[in-house]
Amino acid sequence: MAENISLKIDDFDVTVPVGSTILQAAKLAGVDIPHLCYDPAWNLPPTSSCRLCLVELEAAGSLVPSCSHPAAAGMVVRTDTEEIRQIRRMLIDLLLSDHPQDCLTCERAGGCDLQKYAYQLGVKQSSYPPEQSLAEPERDGPAIVYDRSKCILCGRCVQICQDFHASGAIDYFGRGFDTRISLPPNQSRRHSTCTECGNCIDVCPTGAMSAAAAEGAGREWELESVPTICPYCGCGCTILMNIRDNRVIQITAHPDLGINKGLLCVKGRFGIDFISHAERLTTPLIRKDGKLTPATWDQALDLVASRLGEIKNKFGPNAIAGLASAKCTNEENYIFQKFIRAVVGTNNVDHCARLCHSSTVAGLARAFGSGAMTNSIEDFEVTDCIFVIGSNTTECHPIIGSAIKRAAVQRNAPLIVADPRAIELTEFATIHIQHTGGTDVALINAMMRVILDEQLEDKQFIAERTEGFDQFRKAVEAYTPEMAEKITGVPAADIIRAARIYAQASRETGLVEVGCAGMIGVGAGPLQGLVG
Ligand code: SF4
Ligand code: SF4
Ligand code: SF4
Repeated sequence: MAENISLKIDDFDVTVPVGSTILQAAKLAGVDIPHLCYDPAWNLPPTSSCRLCLVELEAAGSLVPSCSHPAAAGMVVRTDTEEIRQIRRMLIDLLLSDHPQDCLTCERAGGCDLQKYAYQLGVKQSSYPPEQSLAEPERDGPAIVYDRSKCILCGRCVQICQDFHASGAIDYFGRGFDTRISLPPNQSRRHSTCTECGNCIDVCPTGAMSAAAAEGAGREWELESVPTICPYCGCGCTILMNIRDNRVIQITAHPDLGINKGLLCVKGRFGIDFISHAERLTTPLIRKDGKLTPATWDQALDLVASRLGEIKNKFGPNAIAGLASAKCTNEENYIFQKFIRAVVGTNNVDHCARLCHSSTVAGLARAFGSGAMTNSIEDFEVTDCIFVIGSNTTECHPIIGSAIKRAAVQRNAPLIVADPRAIELTEFATIHIQHTGGTDVALINAMMRVILDEQLEDKQFIAERTEGFDQFRKAVEAYTPEMAEKITGVPAADIIRAARIYAQASRETGLVEVGCAGMIGVGAGPLQGLVG
């Protein structure tokens, strides 16, 4: 159980877990301390660069940044003395000296932290001579606008890109007044590691980083924020649709919502504009004389019902088949199969998942009893080894791709990538196995044979939770690494190394992609993922 400490912040006594910062303790006590470079919602590592969160420690009489200074037992903290207010006014004053005073037309007016603190501290204009950056906003891609003149160099965008999205696309460049946030010099967004996920927009406290498509479409207070699930991939990220006049203006996310904890990829953030797209079909179309012509819903439904009825009467129900889509909701798919089975009267109903999922679903169901993911997305944050096969994760399930990159970069978790292609994850891999396409089974069987030969398997797990293990042992017997090398083209030494890395980790996770609508991570213990 975490040990607690008690301290006094202004007039409030507060008890917090050991290791809390003063700012975290103040939040618990209901005391609001201004801050710009630190974002508690995201829990970005504090850099203490803006100095706005300075507070006074009564005993020492010193000022410390509350975002990074640890709270201590018996501490007495003053957060709002006249001296502190003066310092904060001066800091805002300095920031405003290099900031356009165009709140009337700024996209972030009403949601800008700089504006909020200038208002709270009564700083109406800067007392320093203006030294405005004259640079025009940069639009080096269709989605994101960077306005240097509004950038306060707080570094939140750099942190989210490096520490959370694990792209490391942007950084500080230049010196002094010319310092700016940018991609490396001479690199276009398209040819950089930037994935245009737009997570840098969500953390920016001013109007410096913004979504191009939302320009002039509405301010924060004019938008209704509706949470829903991203329709694209099996990660199932929670997105916030910011809506005005029944039109989606911008997609954002929040760290408190969903498995994505505030992160989104380019698809979820910028790929939802089809909802209001001018070319979107708004009426059914009926083909007449070879041309699709607009029709009413009644006309379309009557036509479909009568044609299905005619075919059924003439040829029987089995002359009809229905194919549903992973883009539909569970409820829509349920109703569809019910309609085909109960109304049309045939079992000829299928789903696009047959194409991409069925082999893995069948294998998982046989091995684990259910064709579903056996461990959670959160496991990627704690696993000691990740084995990726059959998945270009950063493209197909980008939020999980980021989690894998974070594990490899920040925790040095060994990453085994088995893919004939050099995908993005191979840049982070401890070992990249480029096996010949279609030889996955031989590769995995050989890895399992190595694990058994070297007695690296989890014997207790096998004894308690598996059946038919002797048959399984016989099945992989023939797959020596040398034999698998001939089939897969992978040197036997690499197969042995990968097997050892995988089996010697105490908590490993395997990842098998199962197409556009689903993702299955397998394996929470030695061999569990391999016996499938
Ligand atoms: S869009 Fe995403 S990848 Fe690109 S700079 Fe912003 S956070 Fe980094
Ligand atoms: S672009 Fe925004 S988040 Fe990035 S440093 Fe500038 S003000 Fe901070
Ligand atoms: S990873 Fe991207 S596409 Fe997949 S659910 Fe999340 S935002 Fe949508």
